[in-house]
Amino acid sequence: MRRFRHVCAACLVAVAVVPVAAIARRVTPIAQAEGPEAAAAQRFKAIRDDRVRLERFLREMPKGGDLHVHLSGAVYAESYLRWASDAGLCLVTATMALAPPQPPCDVGAGRPPASTATEGSPLYDQVIDAWSMRNWRDRNVARGGRDHFFATFARFNLATGRVGDMLAEVVSRAAAEHVAYIELMLATDGGAAGMRGTAAGWNADYRRMRDQLIKNGFSAVRAEARSRLDQAEAREREVLHCSASDAAPGCGVTVRYVSQVYRAGAPEQVFAQMLAAFELAAADPRVVSLNLVAPEDDPIAIRDFSQHMRMLEFLHARYPGVPITLHAGELAPGMAPPSALRSHIRDSVRIGHARRIGHGVDVMQEQNPPALLRELASRHVLVEIALSSNDLILGISGKAHPLATYLRYGVPVAIATDDPGVARSSHTQEFVRAVEDQGLDYVTIKRLVRNSLEYAFADQTTRRRLQAQLENELTAFERQQQNHEP
Ligand SMILES: [Zn+2]
Repeated sequence: MRRFRHVCAACLVAVAVVPVAAIARRVTPIAQAEGPEAAAAQRFKAIRDDRVRLERFLREMPKGGDLHVHLSGAVYAESYLRWASDAGLCLVTATMALAPPQPPCDVGAGRPPASTATEGSPLYDQVIDAWSMRNWRDRNVARGGRDHFFATFARFNLATGRVGDMLAEVVSRAAAEHVAYIELMLATDGGAAGMRGTAAGWNADYRRMRDQLIKNGFSAVRAEARSRLDQAEAREREVLHCSASDAAPGCGVTVRYVSQVYRAGAPEQVFAQMLAAFELAAADPRVVSLNLVAPEDDPIAIRDFSQHMRMLEFLHARYPGVPITLHAGELAPGMAPPSALRSHIRDSVRIGHARRIGHGVDVMQEQNPPALLRELASRHVLVEIALSSNDLILGISGKAHPLATYLRYGVPVAIATDDPGVARSSHTQEFVRAVEDQGLDYVTIKRLVRNSLEYAFADQTTRRRLQAQLENELTAFERQQQNHEP
């Protein structure tokens, strides 16, 4: 009792000058008695309103996997500009798009060499802004975030050929942020399947269409895709010195690929790309799934949505071992006719056999949302949540975002980055948003981190290895929080 009185007398002085949060940070001995998770949760609670400490906490926290990220959108504009300069590409200043060096670059004609956009120059800043969402709200972007976002890809497209260097950048960033696993979306075949589809022409009889494509040497597309991945990974290992004693941390990040299918194309191209994706995933363990890409409100994507679902249903029956993830519900009211917002998520699961949904933002616009939410929960369909992307493209954040609703219904979710290069975001920043914008607590965040590996499409042995590693790292991280300095 005497000791208590003594301590309390000291407290009376301390309370007068030290903020409440600072006092809370000093109570680690209590948490120690309750275990590492309680200590981490308590520290998290104490620092969650302190952006600097919160960001550090979340950067250091093991984050499992990133299940929804597009390779070309994950690279920062600065890298693309450097590679464009190396390749001697030109910059069309009227559109800020890269152009081939034939005809030769010409400053007077508004086509200077990309290399003239040197760091610190006004042109350099203009390029970075035009190739990303940096400063977009301050600029005169007439048609808003959605159009600026998607327009960036066409501008830097000519610099996206260095796939190995792009991989190296993405895994290096992942390692620095304690992300152990990534599923990267990319066009694995470099467009070869789409061309075969065009050559074959459209046939609404899917069985005949598939037979015809396969009969005409479709296996060459698979070989092309595998060879491209081999080359890219070899270059990635070279950049990161993965075979040397000074291997970069990025070498330890496990990567799997998701084949992109461009859903705004002609049906014969979409079908051929889907077929190539299933064929590749069935043959190469590095490729685990496929996803439909391009803005969901694209008129062709909307017109052909049901057709695409039927194609997936047909192909899923022939490749049942290949899991499917689909962008669905990446829409806001007014972006497309209400009919487009009523059934994309439900149809993607029921007809398209999606085991994961990308975004799912318009879930409350679907027919009978409570029934759909219960269905997603009971089928264990995970929703890949990309908060920055939803804010920038759809203008949906805070209470307008359905993350809390998904959690309330027990739908599994995980935090993903989508296009961190274009969005100028990172995995850590997405978690910061999850805390500051969505109010998640530590235990929920930890559950989402675990989901990101539990719902990964990697083979079971790889997944189990990553899960065991995550548990060890989480325990070590939480123990650190017990002894953390204020
Ligand atoms: Zn996406």
